[in-house]
Amino acid sequence: MLEIVMVIYTLYTLFKIYISFMELEFLKKAKEFKPVVLPAKTYKEAASYKMDSQKMSIVSSLYELLLFFGWMSFGLGYLETVIVFENEMLKAVVFVNAFIAINYILGLPFEIYQTFGLDKTYGFSTIDAKTFMLDLLKSSLMFLVFGSLLIWLISWIIVSLSNWWIWGFVAIFAVVLFINMIYPTLIAPIFNKFLPLENEELKNSIENLLQKAGLKSSGVFTIDASKRDKRLNAYFGGLGKSKRVVLFDTLVQKLEKNELLAVLGHELGHFKHKDILKNIVISGVMLLVMFGFFGNLPESLFTGLHVEKTPQIIITLFFLLSPVLSFFMMPLIGVLSRYNEYKADEYGSECESKEALASALMKLASENKSFPLSHKLTIIFYHSHPELVQRLQKLGVDVSCDA
Ligand SMILES: [Zn+2]
Repeated sequence: MLEIVMVIYTLYTLFKIYISFMELEFLKKAKEFKPVVLPAKTYKEAASYKMDSQKMSIVSSLYELLLFFGWMSFGLGYLETVIVFENEMLKAVVFVNAFIAINYILGLPFEIYQTFGLDKTYGFSTIDAKTFMLDLLKSSLMFLVFGSLLIWLISWIIVSLSNWWIWGFVAIFAVVLFINMIYPTLIAPIFNKFLPLENEELKNSIENLLQKAGLKSSGVFTIDASKRDKRLNAYFGGLGKSKRVVLFDTLVQKLEKNELLAVLGHELGHFKHKDILKNIVISGVMLLVMFGFFGNLPESLFTGLHVEKTPQIIITLFFLLSPVLSFFMMPLIGVLSRYNEYKADEYGSECESKEALASALMKLASENKSFPLSHKLTIIFYHSHPELVQRLQKLGVDVSCDA
């Protein structure tokens, strides 16, 4: 069984690398097309950024494969022998934390290269070493406290309940819902300053928009996103009473009022069409499939790994193998998600105008240097949004490209 798992993981890695190579080939050609959507200089820069990112992801995929083999061939067994605790639950908590910490440290060079190499070269990243370290410290501490509680809970469910995977799913899904609920009001403020939107006129227009959509929210805020990165964004987060509109300060600075309202209109479209609820249901189904899978792993896999079927091994296998499962579920989810994006665009353009939304999307792409074209396989396996060129065409902008 172990051999089959190794072969599947290797094929998965090779397939990801194949997609990256296809994308690289595509970008090499597309870079020479007549520039669309973006100004000529940004168009070339965006293509280069994407090509560099692809090259990095090829290296990191190979590195992950190496790590996977390391864990499966001796890492898990080794960790079982060095982490010794009388208490079964305590052992599980320390084991999984150690596994995650080791993986994180081994992956850190890639994160540092992305943030301080690539993103600095292309002028996105504004983060300094101090903010980076503070972020790291805060998220590690949070994980240590809440992650440990969660690991303890799941371990307890695994050893105590029959058909543990159903109860494990129920518990984790409840936690996911809870985190969604408290994210904008309790978690996000740990990392960013939230300020009520100062511009009264803009604030009134936004509140008007919310009211028209029949939405009660606990406010419109801007965050100091510019202390990390120059890219623009906005989100509409939270569930129930914690719902809030969050605008990156970078977005407020760069977009005109009508463009901003169109972008928010798009986000409101997601709310209006209950996309957030649909996404929660979809991720629930995905999670259930995964729990079903990991709750019924064959004994021969554990024999092959030379380990007992302990909670910590089941949980670490979840971390190691769930990316493969979600990768192959992505194409289906992508189809639904792209459909929802078109619908949200329609709503957004009704809130403001097609022109305003189109011009906002183009500004976003230009500021974020996001290359407007991609290879088909990349779209199928990685994109949650339709290609920008197609979105603009639906909004009535005449974009003709060579592709
Ligand atoms: Zn959207």
